[in-house]
Amino acid sequence: MQNSGLWQAVLGEIELSVSRGNFVTWFKNTELIRNKDDVVIVGVPNIFVKNQLERKFNDLVVEVLEKNGLKPAKVEYKIHTGISPSSRTLDEREDKTTSGLQFEAVAARPRSSISNVTHSYRQGLNARYSFDNFVVGAGNELAYAACQAIANAPGNKYNPLFIYGGVGIGKTHLIQAVGNAVLAAKPDARIIYASTEQFVQEFVDALRFKKNTSDFAGFYRAADVLIVDDIQFLAGKEKIQEEFFHTFNALYQANKQIIMSSDKPPKDIPTLEERLRSRFAWGMTIDMQTPDFETRCAILQTKAGSQELDLPRDVVEFLATRVQSNIRELEGALNQLIAFCEMRGVEPDITIVTTMFEGTRGRPKHISARAIIERTAKHFHITVEDILGPKRDKDIVVPRQVAMYMLRSELHLSFPKIAHELGRKDHTTAIHSIEKIQRELSYDSPIRQNVNELKERLYA
Ligand code: ADP
Ligand code: MG
Repeated sequence: MQNSGLWQAVLGEIELSVSRGNFVTWFKNTELIRNKDDVVIVGVPNIFVKNQLERKFNDLVVEVLEKNGLKPAKVEYKIHTGISPSSRTLDEREDKTTSGLQFEAVAARPRSSISNVTHSYRQGLNARYSFDNFVVGAGNELAYAACQAIANAPGNKYNPLFIYGGVGIGKTHLIQAVGNAVLAAKPDARIIYASTEQFVQEFVDALRFKKNTSDFAGFYRAADVLIVDDIQFLAGKEKIQEEFFHTFNALYQANKQIIMSSDKPPKDIPTLEERLRSRFAWGMTIDMQTPDFETRCAILQTKAGSQELDLPRDVVEFLATRVQSNIRELEGALNQLIAFCEMRGVEPDITIVTTMFEGTRGRPKHISARAIIERTAKHFHITVEDILGPKRDKDIVVPRQVAMYMLRSELHLSFPKIAHELGRKDHTTAIHSIEKIQRELSYDSPIRQNVNELKERLYA
């Protein structure tokens, strides 16, 4: 196999066993630059990624390489921009002179050479989130307008932008769309999208391996647009708040755009330092609301349309009435409907959707969380202990993620409760796992097949 093909296979597997944030941050800009004489050399974009792969992910890389038939005596990580200086475009050279050398040293990014592997991601961005596929309506129009304005002139208006609102109403989608739009207009812009969880993790790691702290700081402070999602997770983390404060100031003073999302307004985030609280409100603070009925209908039609499915109006209205507060759940309901109809080879109609969803909230009551975990384990031919335990093998990680998804979709448990049922302390893992499964359900994947079968049996 060619190096690039092999590495894509390896990345594909790694993607299944780490969180999306981790994958995007640490793996997306890597490539296999050498595979010879028992040595595998992995090209990485910067020292920060190099350290992290060496310290945290080397075992995983070795394991997945082995699964793909490679047992090198040694795996090395080399900083490799993939662009020779002479092949830089004029634009890039100009960019370098205007923005200084610091970023070049800290976080030079390979572009053209491995675009085949990374086309859908740029520093945490997922190309799936765009303004084009975001449905605007009462509830989100203000946030949408602000995000568009920012995308057209980052750093000039509404800085920082602070968007808050409930779960699953499109915050991540919108703030990611800003990043994608800025990149589309200016491919060399330095956009960083990070979950607060990721920011925290990197900071903790940087502290632990002392000498990394300046890389960490430099990396974030070199952004043109810094997007930090779910900033409420800074609560109670003093040291990290301090670090974020400095990052914030550096970017703000340099007229760089800062965008944050949260599930509550700054004043309600507990133990948030006063100086951060006030800074968060310097620019624009937007309360994003659940989309209204009409908007929910439009969202359903758009999503169905993207799968080339024409939903009857009464079906759309039924779903939009049933699921009111969370667009992610709304999508989930639609996917369930699509899967149900696919399996039976029928077209969605109001009778089907009524039988499927009528009373579903009451339906699973007789099923316990434990029973769902047991069924999931059984379905995948592993043990409950595997699911609850710490193992990171793919054949265990995926069922574990499916179990979390099932607890959410069938019992509507909260994320912390799901984490608890799985014996985990950190509920953000549950969020990531569930989102990952949801993403995979939206296209034809083996996961979709598995989840459908599981659900069928659950209620058989
Ligand atoms: P949040 O970050 O607020 O929890 P997300 O941005 O993750 O929510 O949105 C949840 C899902 O709903 C995503 O798949 C997103 O694409 C979709 N979604 C939310 N609002 C809209 C909208 N107005 N138009 C299209 N899709 C939407
Ligand atoms: Mg979000």
